[in-house]
Amino acid sequence: MEKKAEHEIKIIGIGPGSGAAMTQEAAEALEESEVIVGYPLYLSLLKERFSGKEFLSAPMRQEEKRCRMCYEEAEKGKKTALVCSGDAGIYGLASLMYELLPQYPDCRLTVIPGVTAASSGAALLGAPLNHDFCAISLSDLLTPWEQIEKRLAAAAAGDFAIALYNPSSRKRADYLGRACRVLLENGVEPERPCGYVENIGREGTRKHICTFRELMETQVNMFTTVFIGNSQSEMIGDALVTKRGYRL
Ligand code: SAH
Repeated sequence: MEKKAEHEIKIIGIGPGSGAAMTQEAAEALEESEVIVGYPLYLSLLKERFSGKEFLSAPMRQEEKRCRMCYEEAEKGKKTALVCSGDAGIYGLASLMYELLPQYPDCRLTVIPGVTAASSGAALLGAPLNHDFCAISLSDLLTPWEQIEKRLAAAAAGDFAIALYNPSSRKRADYLGRACRVLLENGVEPERPCGYVENIGREGTRKHICTFRELMETQVNMFTTVFIGNSQSEMIGDALVTKRGYRL
């Protein structure tokens, strides 16, 4: 008979902050865990609420190490959780954990969903993604920039509303501008309503509404998610809204 993988690792999306937007399922899974592994910033958000847990981290760019840490802790028999911001299956570590799983046959994985930045940010702006939409990351650490440009062009050509993740970093300060130029060339008109939200669910939450023209000239930081409406999006009062097409 096949041996059952005995060590469960929970991969937990904690939502945008550490507070109200964390699901009850995620909070319960963290309560039940003994070791919590994650990026230092996310651990600092959790330390107070889940005091008494063992916290382990590996810095940015050491994702594989962080994942292997989880497997090693789980193999010691500890109840282990890996935390990611938002949802662990959206630009998170869930897929890397599955890629490594064959090397750790005594372990098994459970993914617990979280509220991703596209959802939490959209809610702050109104309803910008309420029709077909794309999530596109502007990070070219793992994806060639030419591929990102192709996806941006296709999203604009398909008239999708767009949520842009990773719109900037210290080394990529001009990427949002570059992405906007690709969208412009593919039909996004300068007056299209857009928005961006910083530090969702964390201290310093700020939302901004602007036109696409203004967005092209805007510098954002890495804790920002950017929203571009589709050709039917409108401002209703101070809310950015992509309609579904109901006849009123
Ligand atoms: N797994 C995460 C995304 C990680 S990629 C999720 O599902 O939300 C990192 C990018 O996500 C950031 O550059 C930013 O674009 C977005 N993001 C994550 N948390 C955010 C927050 N609290 N406020 C604004 N944007 C956030």
